[in-house]
Amino acid sequence: MKRSVLLPPALLCAFLPLLGGQAPWETPARSIAAERILAHTRVLASDEFEGRAPGSPGEEKSVAYLAEQFRSMGLQPGGSGGSWTQDVPIVGVTSDVALSLADSPGGGFRPLAFPADFVAWSPRLEPSVAAADSELVFVGHGVTAPEFQWDDFKGTDVRGKTLLILVNDPQVPDPRDPGKLDPRVFKGNAMTYYGRWSYKFEEAARRGAAAAIIIHETKAAAYPWFVVVNSWSRERFGLQGSTEPTVPLAGWMHLDQARRVLAANGSTYEKAVAAASRRDFRPIPLKQRVAFSSRQTVRPVRSRNVFAALPGSDRRLRDDWLIYTAHWDHLGRNPKLDGDGIFNGAADNAIGAAGLLEIARAFATAPVRPKRSVLFLSVTAEEQGLLGARYYASRPVHPLARTVANINIDGLNPWGRTSDLRQIGQGSSTLDEVLLATAKARGRTVLPDAHPERGTFYRSDHFEFMKQGVPAIYINPGGHFLGKPAGYGESKLAEYIDRDYHKPSDEVKPDWDLSGAVEDLQVLMETGWRVADAHRMPAWKPGSEFHRERP
Ligand SMILES: [Zn+2]
Repeated sequence: MKRSVLLPPALLCAFLPLLGGQAPWETPARSIAAERILAHTRVLASDEFEGRAPGSPGEEKSVAYLAEQFRSMGLQPGGSGGSWTQDVPIVGVTSDVALSLADSPGGGFRPLAFPADFVAWSPRLEPSVAAADSELVFVGHGVTAPEFQWDDFKGTDVRGKTLLILVNDPQVPDPRDPGKLDPRVFKGNAMTYYGRWSYKFEEAARRGAAAAIIIHETKAAAYPWFVVVNSWSRERFGLQGSTEPTVPLAGWMHLDQARRVLAANGSTYEKAVAAASRRDFRPIPLKQRVAFSSRQTVRPVRSRNVFAALPGSDRRLRDDWLIYTAHWDHLGRNPKLDGDGIFNGAADNAIGAAGLLEIARAFATAPVRPKRSVLFLSVTAEEQGLLGARYYASRPVHPLARTVANINIDGLNPWGRTSDLRQIGQGSSTLDEVLLATAKARGRTVLPDAHPERGTFYRSDHFEFMKQGVPAIYINPGGHFLGKPAGYGESKLAEYIDRDYHKPSDEVKPDWDLSGAVEDLQVLMETGWRVADAHRMPAWKPGSEFHRERP
C-alpha cells in the first residue's frame, strides 16, 4: 500500500477494504470476459432486434433480454414494486415537412429539396404547423451567454422569424495568440453547451421564433450531413407532458444551400462566420422569406428504462446509490433507405449495454458486496435527446441527494488494448482522482478528452445526471494502442465516424478485439466499487459548471 501514502486522505479509505491482501473487486473484475460482452452485443445488435427503436418490437425484445439477464444474475429488480423496468412516457412524432424560400417579400416561393438541401421537423405535438411568410434572419451562433458577456441577439425581436444559425459556439481568436482560440471565451477549442443543437433550438423557442435552422458544417458539427439526415428524418421522440417551450419548426440546412442563401445577400459563409465570431455581432436580416408546413402523426409510447439493484452491505450506507448507466436504444430502421435499413447500433450502444450487463454480473458474483447500493440502469431514448436518463433524473427511484455518482457507458473500445483511456468532462468532480488512482493501480493512464471541440461531454446520459447535481464519469477509448503504430486509434475512430456512426452498417465487425474493452470495464468496475465504499461522497470541484447543491 505504499502507493496510497501519496493520496489525499479522502481516498485512503478506498484502498483499505482488502481481503487477505486482495481488494474485494479484484476477483470479480478479473472475471469480466470479452466472450460474454460479444455474445450480448451480437444479440442486441442482431437484425431481429430491428435497431432497438423506442416503441418498436425491438424495444420489447431489448427490454425483455436485459431484464432476463439481470434476473438470471441473482440481482434484485430495480423498481420498488419488484419491477425490472421504469415506464418512460414519451411521444413519437413523424413530420412531413415542406420548406420553401422566396427571394423577396411576396416573391415566388421555391421548395427546397429534402434531403439534399435541408432536413426539418416540428418538435410540437400537434397534427400540423405552418408559417406562410416568415422573415429569415442570420443570428450567428444564436447564443446568449451572460457568463461570457456574449449576446448574439442584442435585443433584436425575432418573434415569428426564421433563424439561420451557425453550429458550435463562437470561435474567438485569442488576442495574445491569434493562431489559437481564446480559452476565456466559450472555453476556447472545447465545445460548450452553447454549441449544441439542443441549446440553439431551446434559445430560439424562448425567443418566440417561428423556425430555427442550423447550418450544417461537418467539422464544426463533428459529424457529416448523412448523420443529420439519418438522425432526424424519422420518427422522433419527446417526453410526454414536457412544459419546455418548443420552436414550431426545427431543422438543419446543408452548407451548399446556406452558401446560396448568403450569396444572394452579397455575403459568403466565411464572412458570416467571421462576423459571428465578434462580440459586437448583431443579427443580420436576410432578403429571403420562408414558408413551411408540416403534417405530423403523433403517437404516445410507453417506453422503458430497465434496471437491477445490488443492495449495499453497510446498514448506514445502503440507502446511498451508485448508478451505472448504458442506453439500450438506437435508431431503429428506416424503410426509405436501400438495403435492410436496420440501424443495428452494435458500437452505439449494444456494446455498452453488454458492458453494463457484464459489470452487473461481476458485481453480482462477488463474494462480498460494496457498502453502498448499486443500480444498473439501461436507459431508453438516448438517441432522442437523452430522454430515458432525463426521465430517471427527474423521477429517480432513489433520491438524487443520496445518489453518489453516475458511471456511464456509451460505446466501448473494440480495437484492442490501450495503455490510456480518455475521460470526458475531466475536472468537474473528485471522481477524477478515484478514476486516476484506479487506472494507475491497473497500469493505465487517464488523459483528458482528445476532442473537446466535438462536445462529446453533452452527448450522452451522464449529462442528465450532472445537470441534476450528481457527479459522473464517462470515458472514451484511449489512443495509445499496444503493439499498434501511433495514430491507429485516431484512424479507427475516424473510420467509424465516417463509415458506420448512425448508419445501418454499425454492426459487429469481424476484426473486433474486445481485450481493451475488458480492461476499461475493469477500471469502471473498480472505480465504482471504490466510490461505493468510500467514507465520503464525491464532491464537485470549485469552478465546475455543475457546482451546486444536489436537490
Ligand atoms: Zn450512444
